Amino acid sequence: MNRTNDRNLPSCANLRAVFQHPLLEGDSTAATPDEQRLERTLQARARAACSSCPLFEQCLENAILDHDVAGFVAGTTPRQRSRIRAYLGIKVRPDDLGSFAGIIGSGHQIATQDVIRLRRAHPDQPLSFIADRLGCSLSTVKRHLRRARDASPTPHHKDPSKVAAPRLPAAYESVTGRPHPSRTRLAA
Ligand code: SF4
Repeated sequence: MNRTNDRNLPSCANLRAVFQHPLLEGDSTAATPDEQRLERTLQARARAACSSCPLFEQCLENAILDHDVAGFVAGTTPRQRSRIRAYLGIKVRPDDLGSFAGIIGSGHQIATQDVIRLRRAHPDQPLSFIADRLGCSLSTVKRHLRRARDASPTPHHKDPSKVAAPRLPAAYESVTGRPHPSRTRLAA
């Protein structure tokens, strides 16, 4: 699979061919046995990358409590994230961050999710750092961040950082059937 290898980037940015594969974009669309096999392989690779990602906790929290983003994020599919929200008794308004695309110099599209992930991973770096990493212009980075901020829904959950966030690991484990990575790290 196609991958870049930049240690400054989260794994999902280095494994774009996996995380941005159409089969991982939303809920399962695999129709044939071959597609189902490929989907399982892609999910396993993405899960492994997320489980060793130092941003996992924050990424999961953002994907559950803040934005209803598309795609495979923090070891979860969109359907699993919906079930985690149901477990926690919270709702967030769906947004379409994934649909805001920018065109980089080579003619490839970048996703707002990539810009947001890099911003979260490198909050102290200038925006030009993100532009360099993604190979796009500074104005494209700013446009994605501006549109993401404008589209950001008003959360409909009650004080998530105080109420829901501490229950997130248990909700994650209940829905996915896998240990939350923070527990496996503690046990290591
Ligand atoms: S946990 Fe989040 S930031 Fe880390 S690899 Fe997975 S999707 Fe990317």
